[in-house]
Amino acid sequence: MEPKEERVIREDERPKMLIVDDNKQNIEMLMELFHGEYRIAAARNATRALKVAFSDAPPDIILADIIMPGMDGYEFCAQIKEDLRTKNIPVIFVTAVSEVMDQNRGFALGAVDYITKPFHPPVVKARVKLHLNLKRKQDLLEKYAFIDALTEIPNRRRFDEVMLKEWNRACRSTYPLSLILIDIDHFKNYNDTYGHGQGDDCLRRVAVAMSRSLRRAGDFVARYGGEEFAVVLPDTPAPQALEAAKNILSAVDELNIAHKSSSVALHVTISLGIATITPDDSKSALELKDLIEAADKKLYEAKSLGRHTIACYSWLHMT
Ligand SMILES: [Mg+2]
Repeated sequence: MEPKEERVIREDERPKMLIVDDNKQNIEMLMELFHGEYRIAAARNATRALKVAFSDAPPDIILADIIMPGMDGYEFCAQIKEDLRTKNIPVIFVTAVSEVMDQNRGFALGAVDYITKPFHPPVVKARVKLHLNLKRKQDLLEKYAFIDALTEIPNRRRFDEVMLKEWNRACRSTYPLSLILIDIDHFKNYNDTYGHGQGDDCLRRVAVAMSRSLRRAGDFVARYGGEEFAVVLPDTPAPQALEAAKNILSAVDELNIAHKSSSVALHVTISLGIATITPDDSKSALELKDLIEAADKKLYEAKSLGRHTIACYSWLHMT
């Protein structure tokens, strides 16, 4: 029984290949060539292939014919490259030597390679594998470029990106947007008392607790700096942002990480500053940096109030 189950798992890990070609024989030939190594989906026209590409299970690599009735391979490739969900999927054009083709046009549209018929199977296989490996590395690079290595939550770079996106969205819509800036209280003392190894461990545990305390799918937490964190709450008015902040504060309290050199409590605590922008005429002159500065000011206020507390205001009350 067991070896069989193992085999099933391995099969599921095979890369997904999408083949689009109006010619049935061409599809069969490619399927035979890649059979076993890939999970293959095939489409006889570009419109159907786009549906597969934009589905919940997008392919890892696409082999596309160029000349097809309806939408041709170039237009298909352009649509794949335009969409954020699919733009990183390598598209390889498969063409007959006899076909009149414009390779520059394909490359300009974002195709990564051309394979011409008749095939030399080992070469075709090697090239497909090469592009697949490149894509995997690219995906990994993109992933790690936005992850904080210590806490494994999104980093400052990712925060900047998400914040800008949500700011622009809030400006276009009628939704409020809240930002919480968070600081671990007396973290320098913690490091001095327990050492940096334990300090790192504390940061990790606080980051996990914060992530877990967020309730909604769009809520986002990042490591903002040393012992500072930032939480972005889209579509969230000030009262709900305060609720979220209370949850975060309790989540860190509940970790109950001993902190004997804190003047605030016997355990590790945090201070939080909240700012909310509410759709209103007065916001037109405001910029993203104003929201961040407002949250930062409130964080400072929370600290001067004795730490282990939350300070907030709604944008409308700002003077
Ligand atoms: Mg064709």
